[in-house]
Amino acid sequence: MRSTAAPPSPNRPVAARLLAWYRRHRRDLPWRENRDPYRVWVSEVMLQQTQVERVREFFTRFVERFPDVAALARAREQDVLKHWEGLGYYRRARQLHAAAKQIVAEHGGDFPRTAAELRELPGIGRYTAGAIASIAFGEPEPIVEANSRRVIARLVGYGKPVGGAADEPLWSIATALLPRREPGLFNQALMDLGAMVCTVTRPRCDRCPLAASCVARATGRTEETPVLPRQRAAKLVRETAVVLRRGNSAVVERRGPGEWWEGLWDFPRAAAGERRRAGDRLLGTVTYTVTHHRVTCRVVERRLARAPAATNNRRLVALAALDRLAMTAPGRRIARLLVASAALD
Ligand code: SF4
Repeated sequence: MRSTAAPPSPNRPVAARLLAWYRRHRRDLPWRENRDPYRVWVSEVMLQQTQVERVREFFTRFVERFPDVAALARAREQDVLKHWEGLGYYRRARQLHAAAKQIVAEHGGDFPRTAAELRELPGIGRYTAGAIASIAFGEPEPIVEANSRRVIARLVGYGKPVGGAADEPLWSIATALLPRREPGLFNQALMDLGAMVCTVTRPRCDRCPLAASCVARATGRTEETPVLPRQRAAKLVRETAVVLRRGNSAVVERRGPGEWWEGLWDFPRAAAGERRRAGDRLLGTVTYTVTHHRVTCRVVERRLARAPAATNNRRLVALAALDRLAMTAPGRRIARLLVASAALD
């Protein structure tokens, strides 16, 4: 005789406890108001390299300006980059834009529903595809990102290094843990537990719904788990930004393919070995970090005798209009220095 009861699963108690905890403690985040795949997608892409609190403000502004995939597909790239300004890693914004166009062109504006189809889109990797498929469409797809990876590794006492291809065993464990009902809620619960309870340092095991099953806790190895790859030491770089000024305008250049902040505007940099010229005025110093480089940038102003010829990627812009450009993070800070100094002229 066939039993109608659910098959016994050793993972069921973990999922049940985690979901019960999530219902009481879940973070109230603007992209969780509904399961619209567009909102899930935008938020997940923003969250890839950026803290939740920072994403909160950007997300709301972004979806107000581009409320759906069709609106994003129609937008000009400069407008998309402008609304991404301050979030960093602008490649994400360009890929988001390219993917929106592809969804409109190839899927009639409807989001693909499976992780495999989603991964055909620019900028959507295994994690983002799993998040959209599970949260928006209820597909049983696991996700392994920084928070869920930490929870899973500690739960099972995973002692090997993690990161990139080394995460493969954790993907298998995440798949085994995933409940058939509400996989999207389960995935979000894992991420929230990692962010709120199973934190990098000093996890709050006394408040954790998984404490009774947790190997790292039982063996006193919570802080050593997971074993993270060693961070590359930052390379120190010095550069000089040359603000070419003519009256109340300055020359800006658009970063080209292969450069940091491709597509965004910034001020020209002095060529390597170029000396400060007579008449150059030091405006200040800006320091910033970008992909393992810690940069110290001296900012000098140089007055131009005549207006330079404009090209697509180089133009003279009124200081009052700099705010409207999509600018790199250091470019925006240089612009502030420039505007403050011009006010004292
Ligand atoms: S018991 Fe502690 S280490 Fe284990 S999952 Fe919970 S918070 Fe993390």
